[in-house]
Amino acid sequence: MTYDERETLTSGRNCAECKKKPPQVQCLHCSQFVCLECAQKHVNLVALESEDAMHFLNEKLDILDQIAAIARQKIVQERDMIVRYADEERDRSFMQLARMIDVEKQKVRYKSQELNGLPLNAIPAYIRELKAELQYLTIENNDLINVSSTAPRILLQQRGSQRKSIYDDDDNMFN
Ligand SMILES: [Zn+2]
Ligand SMILES: [Zn+2]
Repeated sequence: MTYDERETLTSGRNCAECKKKPPQVQCLHCSQFVCLECAQKHVNLVALESEDAMHFLNEKLDILDQIAAIARQKIVQERDMIVRYADEERDRSFMQLARMIDVEKQKVRYKSQELNGLPLNAIPAYIRELKAELQYLTIENNDLINVSSTAPRILLQQRGSQRKSIYDDDDNMFN
């Protein structure tokens, strides 16, 4: 409370606002002692301030919608990047697979070359060994090449929003 306000309060002579009429009420808005006319003016002023504040809040709601739209766009971009990356992974895996199969095929082809070069008496034993050795190549129990992936994720992080309130940290205001 300023000196002037206290003066008005104690003296009770004139309205704190117009300084002319005698004060009749304590304004709910500013706690000053004012005439009815000025009290009404102050009420109107608060109504205007409230209107401004509502406008301010509505603007923030609009901004949140815009933020959401921008973030959605970025999510789509991330998704597109994942798809591109997945396609590259597919192509890379195809090539890797072709190399792996090639190596296995080389092994099998080498066996047939070996078989052709063997003396007749060695062939039955070689075939037994061959069948045991290549037993792992079956469709039913196919674990030669395992295919898996780690699912890509799109991460959303919210930056610390300002939750400061004048009611929270200005304790002196109402005590
Ligand atoms: Zn007045
Ligand atoms: Zn007032």
